[in-house]
This record gives sequence, structure tokens and C-alpha cells, in this order.
Amino acid sequence: MNRKIDIEALCAEKGLRITEQRRVIARVLSEADDHPDVEALHERASAVDNGISIATVYRTVRLFEEAGILERHDFGDGRSRYEAAADDHHDHLIDVESGKVIEFVDEELEELQRRIAEKLGYRLVDHRMELYGVSRERGS
Ligand SMILES: [Zn+2]
Repeated sequence: MNRKIDIEALCAEKGLRITEQRRVIARVLSEADDHPDVEALHERASAVDNGISIATVYRTVRLFEEAGILERHDFGDGRSRYEAAADDHHDHLIDVESGKVIEFVDEELEELQRRIAEKLGYRLVDHRMELYGVSRERGS
């Protein structure tokens, strides 16, 4: 979604030690409006500081994920993709041909999920919804 989340500020809030390389990775993540994987993050981060190794990116995203700053997704291609763990909830539709990820919020769907959990005797606290599709505007 079109939100700017200050990952660096979140790190400070969570008491994470912020090194110069982590700061660069945090900025790259704050600026991302897609769902980059580690390779894409490494590419963007090393454009700023070419001393940043892919191993550092791996460690940093894992650290951020464990601190609850990042959310990890697996959109069916076996790669972990990351985005800031936003307070505004949204779900994803993945174009299986292009790999494009579309974010959406649907109140009816949210309500339906709450009702299902309730029927099963639960209060819903979280969910993940991923839709996989092919564009109707492409091909025949
Ligand atoms: Zn998203």
C-alpha cells in the first residue's frame, strides 16, 4: 500500500542496535512499495553501499522480522518476500504469470473470516489471504 513506514524509527523503538549497514537496509525497506526478496533488497542496498553482502541482508531481514518490524510472505515461488509489518491490514493477489503483487482490502471478506472463526469458537486475531490469478485482460 502507499504508506511510508520508517523502519529506522521502529528499530530504535524496539531497541535494536542500528549499524550503518542496517540503516541502509532499513531505508531501502522503508522506500520499497513492492514486496522485495532478499536479492532485490541486496541489489538496492549495495547501490547505496557496495560493501553490503547478501549475507548481511539475510541476517538483517531476519532480525527485523523477529522484532516484528517486517512481515515475510511466500507468494508460491519459494522466495521469501518482505514488507513492513503495517498496522493497516491488507491481503494480496498474485499474478501467477508476471509475479505482480496487488494489495487489497475487502470488508466483506474480513467480516466473513471473523464469522467463520466465531462459528468455530474462536475470536479472530490474524489471518493471511493470498489469491493467485491470471489477468483477464491478457491472452484470450
Ligand atoms: Zn503487501
